[in-house]
Amino acid sequence: MSNIGFIGLGIMGTPMAGHLIKGGHTLFVYDAGRKPEEVIQQGGTLCESSQEVAEKSEIIITMVPDTPNVEAALFGEKSVSQGLSSGKIVVDMSSIAPLATKEFARRVNALGCDYLDAPVSGGDVGAKAASLTIMVGGPERAFATVKPIFELMGKNITLVGGNGDGQTTKVANQIIVALTIEAVGEALLFASKAGADPARVRQALMGGFANSRILEVHGERMVKRNFAPGFRIALHQKDLNLALAGAREMGISLPNTATCQELFNAAAAHGGSARDHSAMVRVLELLANHEIGGGTPLGDMG
Ligand code: NAD
Repeated sequence: MSNIGFIGLGIMGTPMAGHLIKGGHTLFVYDAGRKPEEVIQQGGTLCESSQEVAEKSEIIITMVPDTPNVEAALFGEKSVSQGLSSGKIVVDMSSIAPLATKEFARRVNALGCDYLDAPVSGGDVGAKAASLTIMVGGPERAFATVKPIFELMGKNITLVGGNGDGQTTKVANQIIVALTIEAVGEALLFASKAGADPARVRQALMGGFANSRILEVHGERMVKRNFAPGFRIALHQKDLNLALAGAREMGISLPNTATCQELFNAAAAHGGSARDHSAMVRVLELLANHEIGGGTPLGDMG
């Protein structure tokens, strides 16, 4: 059993840290914005800083919102880098920029420690059920050490390549998810306007070539009008920003990713940032002047 540090105990981090405690590990935890009561009650030890977490742990996990938050946790005041000693492993499970990740890994390696980028897919449901998909970038020896810990939080765990490749895979995942939400939204909207029952259309499509988890889960949300998050539009905008900024740097075009980002931007402009990302369909409904299942589109999504 290991001493594990866990930094960032929000929607995802709280259940993930809980699984590690249940797995018999000793957890040292820190969150810059809240007291993680639930994890402390389960037996986690609260630290005063990320530095203290790193001093007390062999493996340090971060699960914070965005690239600047990871940078602050790793290299800011009283941060992980100040508590590291040679041989420890830093594991970032947040979804952040692949290029910045390579730089963070280089700085951690310079302190004699390995770095793994290990973002996840599966949402809060997957975090609670310990069924996350985990996409890893980094050296094989560190992956072999941390794999049993990943197995307490997830099911489909893949070492994709070197540092940054885990984050690149997560960006690719978010491109597919956004474009598929858009496709399912257009399809159900088309069917509904044509007079077919969108619930039955979804049911009929689920056996065929057009089936997907998005049709199953988010198609149902669209039909039942359930847009409580889940995965917030604001977080998906962050992920598509990573895709579009990366595409610009590499000199390639991602036309439909750009369209989906504009649809999320429109959703946000109508007060929908905190809605589930399946609420992208509300913007398509505004454009079509038709709501799935009938009724008049609402201008205010909030
Ligand atoms: P969240 O906002 O619920 O939790 C993040 C936590 O990090 C907060 O409690 C915040 O106080 C803390 N934090 C921020 N900066 C910090 C710092 N410098 N030091 C210590 N703590 C800090 O976010 P979440 O939904 O748990 O998402 C975390 C990451 O997981 C994001 O990158 C997100 O894109 C990714 N993700 C989320 C989901 C989801 O469904 N929510 C699914 C897959 C991936």
